[in-house]
Amino acid sequence: MIITTIKELRAYLDTQRKSGKTIGLVPTMGFLHEGHLSLIRRAKAENHIVVMSDFVNPTQFAPNEDFESYPRNIEHDEQLATDAGADVIFYPSVEEMYPNGSSTFVEAEGDITKVLCGASRPSHFKGVTTVVAMLFNIVQPQKAYFGQKDAQQAAVLIKMATDLHMNIELIVCPIVREEDGLAMSSRNTYLSANERAQAVILNQALVKAKTIFENGEHNVPNLIKTITDKITEMPLADIDYVSIYEYPSLKTIETVKEKALAAVAVRFGKTRLIDNIILEK
Ligand code: AMP
Repeated sequence: MIITTIKELRAYLDTQRKSGKTIGLVPTMGFLHEGHLSLIRRAKAENHIVVMSDFVNPTQFAPNEDFESYPRNIEHDEQLATDAGADVIFYPSVEEMYPNGSSTFVEAEGDITKVLCGASRPSHFKGVTTVVAMLFNIVQPQKAYFGQKDAQQAAVLIKMATDLHMNIELIVCPIVREEDGLAMSSRNTYLSANERAQAVILNQALVKAKTIFENGEHNVPNLIKTITDKITEMPLADIDYVSIYEYPSLKTIETVKEKALAAVAVRFGKTRLIDNIILEK
């Protein structure tokens, strides 16, 4: 069932809550793939009612980014989400979410939003925390589901929920990949055949780093060099960043102590892809 207004969604959820139903939320920007569906299935296994939001959020895109061209297909999404167990697809307009006069934002300050994607997309996480805070207020779920694919986003949202004492459990689900290892992403559709073939290098480089890490290489600059050297084997790969931070704090480290996030962002033509792997002793 598609619901487009906050009023209708609240009325539906109030009725469900009154009959003792628990609610799980899966925020997405639509153009669904198996990565999204894995979150819906997990949410359905752990809650009575699953709300999947399908909203391309303008405030998390910079003016030069792909907000207008971001792929959209609500009919297809409705079918896939419903089959995976979503009870409601919340599909609001931009005006519904940001009515005239809307000027309040939620922002996590500090390194957590400045490193990695925050460096090349300085306003991005402010848009993400704002829209997710709105969705939390509208849906009031017990649990909300996010993908490890966007590891920094998950860390930022956990910080937001903790700092603002939100009574919602955030659950981070594993990255779903194509058979050749490419992390599933709605943006993969932008890739030409050549770019798509070369994009496998992201996962290969991260897996190589994990292997040498497990064989005793814990020095961060050496691990970063291994990843960078591997990615630059592909002529179409244009690196935005290759970074390793302590996880989930995203603090700078020289040596991996307990748990770290190795993350990459790489452009292939106009398409910017991200991927990551956890290095854990
Ligand atoms: P998006 O529609 O790209 O904003 O993603 C919506 C949610 O799905 C986010 O929590 C993402 O981290 C998650 N997600 C996207 N791609 C994947 C994937 N390949 N595996 C697991 N989760 C994913």
